[in-house]
Amino acid sequence: MYDSISYPFEPPAKNSYREIAPGIYWIRLEIPIVHDHINVWALDDGDGWALVDTGVHCEQTLTTWQALMKAPPFNRPITKIIATHMHPDHVGLAGWFNKQFGTPLHMSRIEYLTCRVLIQNTREQRLDDVRTMFYMAGWTEIGLNNLKDTFGHFIHDLPENFHDLVDGESITVGEYHWKIINVGGHTPDHSCLYCAELKMMISGDQILPLIAPNIPVIPMQPTANPMQEWLASIDKIGALVAEDTLVLPAHDDCFYGVHVRLEALRQRQAKAVQRLLDHLSEPRRVIDTFPALFRRPIDLSGAQPTPLKMATGEAMAQLNYLLGRGMIQRELIDGVAYYQRASH
Ligand SMILES: [Zn+2]
Repeated sequence: MYDSISYPFEPPAKNSYREIAPGIYWIRLEIPIVHDHINVWALDDGDGWALVDTGVHCEQTLTTWQALMKAPPFNRPITKIIATHMHPDHVGLAGWFNKQFGTPLHMSRIEYLTCRVLIQNTREQRLDDVRTMFYMAGWTEIGLNNLKDTFGHFIHDLPENFHDLVDGESITVGEYHWKIINVGGHTPDHSCLYCAELKMMISGDQILPLIAPNIPVIPMQPTANPMQEWLASIDKIGALVAEDTLVLPAHDDCFYGVHVRLEALRQRQAKAVQRLLDHLSEPRRVIDTFPALFRRPIDLSGAQPTPLKMATGEAMAQLNYLLGRGMIQRELIDGVAYYQRASH
């Protein structure tokens, strides 16, 4: 039925909104980090609005929310915040809504607790283990010295309590039940919300129409295998979600063709693995694998640590995946890791 991706709606302008079904609003917020916008969703909750994701904690986004909430349709209470995951553009203002209006936060337990720890790490700038991981990946002294932990900078302190989004359960918003599908890969326990009655899935960053989500290894767990988890998530979502579902992603536009998109992502990953394996015919450090994995050029000097950090985390996810499958081996030489295709 669906053999390609299609986009049924024009997106709203930045810091504006449109209704895509009765009581379901698409709000597009401008953000100062990574992507230039995030889509958040306002769902009619009877007495007011449930918000799925919030935008980052910064003056501009606060000003936008304050303006939106002055006029219909958003001049009604915010009944709950549902955070798909712990990244600043998603959960950034959950604590602000909670503090201002007492709005409860709904978020998976692993996402909530991990987020609190990472915010604390930002405060304390605990960088020893972070530097060890990036040294092992082949970074120069300049990059290591420029490292800063900025994760918590765009997140308001979280509320001190929360409501768990449990995989397989549902959360009721207004007259609709949204099934919670928790999946790993992008973050440890990202929640997607699926309403079979509305034929809609809010996919957060897990499934995006134009770009593959960032699947990173982070210094808190350098031996994690998030790529394996993300591939499992593709199978899980594919098995649960009907073909004619409208996907509401956090970046770019709402689309039909979820199964087509899942298959394209699966194939894209299979090709990346093959390029990487070919590249590892001789020993390489993490940073040496970038040409096999990324089209964009990555500055290895360390002058811009943030894009280098992201590329390193993504490359490590690919390498840990291959290590987990026994397809490559790793050798440490003076604290730097070298990866090579397994000889058998
Ligand atoms: Zn994210």
